Amino acid sequence: MRSAVTKHVRRTADASRQHWKVSRQQWTPFHRTASSHVGPACQPPHGAERIGAGIGRMSNLVFDRGQGSWVFTESGEKYLDFATGIGVLNLGHCHPKVMAAVHAQVDKIWHAQVNIAFHRPMLELTDKLQKAMPSGSGLDTFLFVTSGSEAVEAAVKLARHATGKPNIITFQGAYHGRTLLTMSMTSSKTIYRAGYGPHAAGIFVAPHPYYQDRNQKHSDSVKWTIEQLEVMLLQQTTVEETAAVIIEPVLGEGGYVPPPAGLLQGIRDFCDRHGLLFIADEVQSGFGRTGHMFAVERDGVSPDVLVFAKGVASGMPLAGIASRRELMDKQPAGSQGGTYAGNAIACAAANATMDVMMETGFLDEVQARGKQLTEGFLALQATHPEVIKEVRGPGLMIGVEFDDSKVEKGFAGKVSKACLARGMIVLPTGIFETLRIIPPLTVSASECEHGLALFGDALRDVLEAS
Ligand code: PMP
Repeated sequence: MRSAVTKHVRRTADASRQHWKVSRQQWTPFHRTASSHVGPACQPPHGAERIGAGIGRMSNLVFDRGQGSWVFTESGEKYLDFATGIGVLNLGHCHPKVMAAVHAQVDKIWHAQVNIAFHRPMLELTDKLQKAMPSGSGLDTFLFVTSGSEAVEAAVKLARHATGKPNIITFQGAYHGRTLLTMSMTSSKTIYRAGYGPHAAGIFVAPHPYYQDRNQKHSDSVKWTIEQLEVMLLQQTTVEETAAVIIEPVLGEGGYVPPPAGLLQGIRDFCDRHGLLFIADEVQSGFGRTGHMFAVERDGVSPDVLVFAKGVASGMPLAGIASRRELMDKQPAGSQGGTYAGNAIACAAANATMDVMMETGFLDEVQARGKQLTEGFLALQATHPEVIKEVRGPGLMIGVEFDDSKVEKGFAGKVSKACLARGMIVLPTGIFETLRIIPPLTVSASECEHGLALFGDALRDVLEAS
């Protein structure tokens, strides 16, 4: 047994050494065709070989500082950041009001541990969050943790405890995290799960209409999806066993896919019909990203539990769930939480973030920039109809999907690298050839113009090279 394990470990170590070698070889040719000093061309910096290979990375850049929509590297390069740390820096890098709040809190108390006492930034934050929740949702009680995955786990624990039932229905293409339970709830890509089983029990995956509609559009995707949910209750998990349905109101890692109009309401009705809880995972879609404070508001739907993270604290590690008091109060004290849950500095950053986001006109501006970028990408699609299959919103959560029947596998990754070579950070998403555009919500009109021009140039670079 021991020798099998040793062999496995040796194999893994060899594989990871090999990974560096292969990666370096792959990066070099790109360096020659693109500008001279950008990420893919860089050698891994000193220390990188001691970072575990399980962390994927799109470049070897070493970020030094960030300001607004821009990041600056140690070697003095400047990049337009349309990835925002995967939809975290909704107010851009180092927003002055958030920085001031963090600086002020650093001088007071950092770790006011949540199981020992309250702290003022957290109490303040509950007020602000309550005001920001979808109107009429009744989501009035909060629980803080540190990461999105932990928050999803907290939501599942709440649902199981409140209903006394074990099973959870998730959706195909969902990403809910990398912890054991949330990895088991994730089906956006096999990379997050393969080799890490056995997976947690009690997770049942419903089909998402995006994957069904890609080749043959259903005449009524919403009706079809809800029928599939009903079938699941008859074939896989009974009503008596099912606690909740969880969905990302816009698929994130699954390809930046907004649901067809009426789907969220259909799921709400399905949950109400069967006495299930409706959990909205707004980790990526929340805090203004879609031009609404939360994506569920686009459809006027209220979940029973709303999961948040990322944008809430502008990059400080903070996450949590919102639900109704009667559900939250059923839980025994001590059954939820964590050492760093609701860290005081993170809550101070969140308070300042919320203040900015609640300013009059903030979300209107997000919608205006979203419209500008979407129109810009649609214009690019008109120029390259042979490769761009779809440009989809909402707000500043934009997916640009290339036609995988026309471009080779890895095309989106090549465009992402070409963007980097031209000084812009853009991430791929999903299993098809899609790029996601996630600029700061504070991005200016001229930065959007600049980003569109860089993207267009990068696309042409790739097309010319192929
Ligand atoms: N849910 C969604 C929708 C996410 O996008 C993510 C992160 N990409 C998570 C959960 C997990 O969050 P974290 O990485 O903070 O654990």
